[in-house]
Amino acid sequence: MTAVRRSVATVCLSGTLEDKLAAAAAAGFDGIEVFEPDLIASSWSPREIARRCADLGLTIDLYQPFRDLDSTDPDRFARNLRRADRKFDVMEQLGVDTILVCSSVSDDAVEDPDRLAEQLATAASRAGERGLRLAYEALAWGRHVSTWEASWEPVRRADSPALGLCLDSFHVLSRGGDPTGFAQVPADKLFFLQLADAPRLQMDVLQWSRHHRLFPGQGAFDLPEFLRCLLAAGYTGPLSLEVFNDVFRQSDPWRTAVDAMRSLVWLEEALGAVWPESGLTVPPPAPELTGHSFVELGVDGVSGPQVGSALAALGFAHTGQHRSKPVQLWEQGTARVLLNASVTRPAAAGVAAVSALGLESEDPGRSAARAQAVRAPILPRTRGADEADLSAVEAPDGTQIFFTRTGPGGWPADFLSTGTTAPGTGVLAIDHIGLTQPFDAFDEAGLFYRAVLGLEPHAVAEVAAPYGLIRTRSVTDTSRRVRLALSVSALRRGGWTPGVPDPQYVALATDDIVGTVARMREAGAPLLPLPANYADDLDARFDLPPDLLAAIREHGLMYEEDGQGGYLHAATAVLGDRVFFEVVQRLRGYDGYGSTDLPVRMAAHRRARSTAAAAPR
Ligand code: MG
Repeated sequence: MTAVRRSVATVCLSGTLEDKLAAAAAAGFDGIEVFEPDLIASSWSPREIARRCADLGLTIDLYQPFRDLDSTDPDRFARNLRRADRKFDVMEQLGVDTILVCSSVSDDAVEDPDRLAEQLATAASRAGERGLRLAYEALAWGRHVSTWEASWEPVRRADSPALGLCLDSFHVLSRGGDPTGFAQVPADKLFFLQLADAPRLQMDVLQWSRHHRLFPGQGAFDLPEFLRCLLAAGYTGPLSLEVFNDVFRQSDPWRTAVDAMRSLVWLEEALGAVWPESGLTVPPPAPELTGHSFVELGVDGVSGPQVGSALAALGFAHTGQHRSKPVQLWEQGTARVLLNASVTRPAAAGVAAVSALGLESEDPGRSAARAQAVRAPILPRTRGADEADLSAVEAPDGTQIFFTRTGPGGWPADFLSTGTTAPGTGVLAIDHIGLTQPFDAFDEAGLFYRAVLGLEPHAVAEVAAPYGLIRTRSVTDTSRRVRLALSVSALRRGGWTPGVPDPQYVALATDDIVGTVARMREAGAPLLPLPANYADDLDARFDLPPDLLAAIREHGLMYEEDGQGGYLHAATAVLGDRVFFEVVQRLRGYDGYGSTDLPVRMAAHRRARSTAAAAPR
């Protein structure tokens, strides 16, 4: 088993060069690509940068980019060579031997492959005399060279030892390029590899590249196959990330660097799955997750009683009290909700928020080991003498994820029975948890749940909601026993926020939603009324049985269909300013989360809250 060298381009990270180097080193990278604008803006000289990198244990693997080298105008080409010589001076001081030369986008770019080869060879020989080399990269929007095959042609013709290829997964895969062709390139011409993932978008490729690149495992490209082709062709350099992304450019670089490192660990593991001969060291696999064991809400003296009385009306009973902490256990069926009054996360007074999820693991100890191997923050635990030792990690939105076994001797033993049992309204289990993600954490969260927990991320969708576009993505286990519905504003939210900021919900499964909701209403549950327009629209769109349509109107149910089946769901009012419950029934294998109903539900929550605010106290 071997370990590859991992590198990251400074352009991936936010901040100044000083911040970026520290963040890359802290995340455990072996090397960096120096993005030239970061160097130019730095107060450190190239020699000082080299020293700083050495102190941090980082090698400098690439200097980039050198643009528009070739030219049909001899004078301009001469000036470009002079510019290259100056950059070679910088490289010598940095102690880096390879510079990225991108295919030209300029009007005077050379089209003729022989002339292009000759100019690249001229520059390469000047580099070669100084022990340096040029890695030529086809930009997907290059003027005459826009595919990797077109970049290989002049490199092949030039036949200069100081000239080779840089293969960038974005440029190759965004144009539908075929990486299996790398096999025809001699291994000593494969100078450098740059890795980026991206979502499938129909847009200008330059804009797609500059704004929407993602780390491996966060997008839609087949990067394990891309990497397999390159390694099989004999590439031996570092796996280096080059990701331009609007969110990463403005996020905490320390955190982004950890996300980046996790993406490479994930990619190496995914490569091993398609190509066992890779011989790469991989982390232990994530044990299967087999269900939701609990959801914990952080509450205070105002929100706790509010959520508790809602749970009682929903048919839950307060069945247990924690031995050493102010935590209540509420149960119905296998749905368990903990109300924790000791959560120290900062929240305004009166707010309730999801603070933790319990997920059943085949092997909690191995789940924790896996999480550690893929750079998830492991949470320190304090526990009493007789209490279960729970392993937990922190998700990107701050939610704590506990790996549990709910059988005898498991975590429920930490609760002393109150002697109460649930009256029951028909809730069977937790169906899923809905979590609004912080704007900066959405893509990171997809990879986190995939790499740390072994869950499968599903396609990203967008919904037009009252306060802006909302992007959604679910993550599930393959058997759909664990489901998380993640969402985020498509743009950073402005100051006008009359809606519920970052709502969260717990969806409760039933197999008889009409009866369940009727019993909840009877018990005084704070169910959310919906506009008549909505039911009229359902009537127009679907051929629903009259009694079901009547129940939808009477109880404020929502209905959606996917390719397979239907989904009936109802929401409660918002409790503790942020959370609500849903009661859901999946019909005929429906696999979604009712996201087309999201705008109606949000508008209804807004109306319920303004009505409540206006009511006399
Ligand atoms: Mg590149």
